[in-house]
Amino acid sequence: MSYPDTQLFIHGQWREAAAGETLAVFNPATGKEIGRVAHARQADLDLALEAAQKGFETWRDMPAIARSKIMRAAAGLMRERAGAIAALLTQEQGKPLAEAKGEAMAAADIIEWFADEGLRVYGRIVPSRGNLAMRQMVLKDPIGPVAAFTPWNFPINQVVRKLAAALATGCSMIVKAPEETPAAPAELVRAFADAGLPPGVLGLVYGTPSEISSYLIAHPVIRKITFTGSTPVGKQLAALAGQHMKRVTMELGGHAPVIVAEDADVALAVKTAGGAKFRNAGQVCISPTRFLVHESIAREFSAALVKHAAGLAVGDGTAETTQMGPLANPRRVTAMAEFTKDAVERGATLATGGERIGEAGNFWQPTILTDVPLDARVFNDEPFGPMAAVRSFQTLDEAIAEANRLPFGLAGYAFTRSLKNADLLARRVEVGMLWVNMPAMPSAEMPFGGIKDSGYGSEGGPEAMDAYLNARAVSIMNV
Ligand code: NAD
Repeated sequence: MSYPDTQLFIHGQWREAAAGETLAVFNPATGKEIGRVAHARQADLDLALEAAQKGFETWRDMPAIARSKIMRAAAGLMRERAGAIAALLTQEQGKPLAEAKGEAMAAADIIEWFADEGLRVYGRIVPSRGNLAMRQMVLKDPIGPVAAFTPWNFPINQVVRKLAAALATGCSMIVKAPEETPAAPAELVRAFADAGLPPGVLGLVYGTPSEISSYLIAHPVIRKITFTGSTPVGKQLAALAGQHMKRVTMELGGHAPVIVAEDADVALAVKTAGGAKFRNAGQVCISPTRFLVHESIAREFSAALVKHAAGLAVGDGTAETTQMGPLANPRRVTAMAEFTKDAVERGATLATGGERIGEAGNFWQPTILTDVPLDARVFNDEPFGPMAAVRSFQTLDEAIAEANRLPFGLAGYAFTRSLKNADLLARRVEVGMLWVNMPAMPSAEMPFGGIKDSGYGSEGGPEAMDAYLNARAVSIMNV
């Protein structure tokens, strides 16, 4: 399979960085360099900023229906090219081909939903209190050029959730996509370029993340920041945005609790949460992590989860039979070893996994830890890998308190046959997204985002559009 070098995309043109610098891209299944990505510096960013301002003025002034047509054409191209894009994504990120293709296809769905939603950016006419000759209007306008910073775990999806909402509202965007997985997001950008997006509306850069974010966030052209990544980096970027009074959306880390109540369908819980745990080798912000299981079914649940994990086919994502690929980078393998060692030292039982697989690539065994003490790191910090930590509870109140103990509040899962329990959990578990008796099913039409340290703002539903709009009050007196 071939793999291209990736260039910057500025003012409608693919180009090398002005200084000619590049970074290496590695295949996580082999550890070998497979290509290079252009490394932008300030001169490139200045060009991208100038283009984003011009692009904004063009795009803002186009009728929403014309913008929608271009977006729909880009969605069509993503669908047509999904197979080829998946091959690039798997080579640079590691996930199995089927998951990679699914990500490209899902991007098309997201673009289409926002293309339609962009037709419905309505303002309001508000009756005036006194003089009927006064017309009061609420106008919704695009906020301006946006800077987006996206990570390597879903290289297409993390961009498209931001981009589709921004474009649908009439904003332009500069994306700093992940240097470790640059080719798949570049294909998303190519789909928009080929669909006829005017020059400057979308820019794509790579480089040193802190250098690019500190320059773009402070720059007067940029009116809005959107970031997906870890909570510590999110806090830094939000603080910087605050200094420059820029609007912010933050989609940060999670530590999803899975509450399996006494009356749960255990087989459904294992199949659903077990399947979700090892998707993308657990490198998912909404990945189930803290499994809280009622003591009466804890043994049965753990045994079934171990059987599921131990039976997974781990290998190169390009092989048809692979169910779980390598971790995306060597940092995650080091992290998995540290989480495992810490948990076992503190008294957890290593029920399966816990070892690196082979010498080449970043393969790690699907890992289940049981009887995990609350002070184990895996029960406090986001593992972001194929690792489930199980503990039992006696009362649902106890499980809810544990679910809410951490500062994170992104996703949560629960399994119960009782409507009363489901309603209690819906009210009490402090997460932005809760799925009961089902796998996570994020969709373009539903809000996607966290509360507490998992961030603020949403990347789905009409709420995602609001993040890119200014609501302005205009009153006109008929004289
Ligand atoms: P990291 O915290 O160094 O980086 C996370 C992401 O933020 C990367 O894409 C990186 O390029 C970007 N980033 C880092 N510093 C930045 C800066 N100053 N300005 C702009 N972007 C910046 O960690 P990592 O090793 O790449 O990933 C590990 C952790 O990150 C995981 O444990 C997980 O908690 C988190 N993460 C979360 C998501 C998510 O979907 N929410 C995705 C990837 C990583």
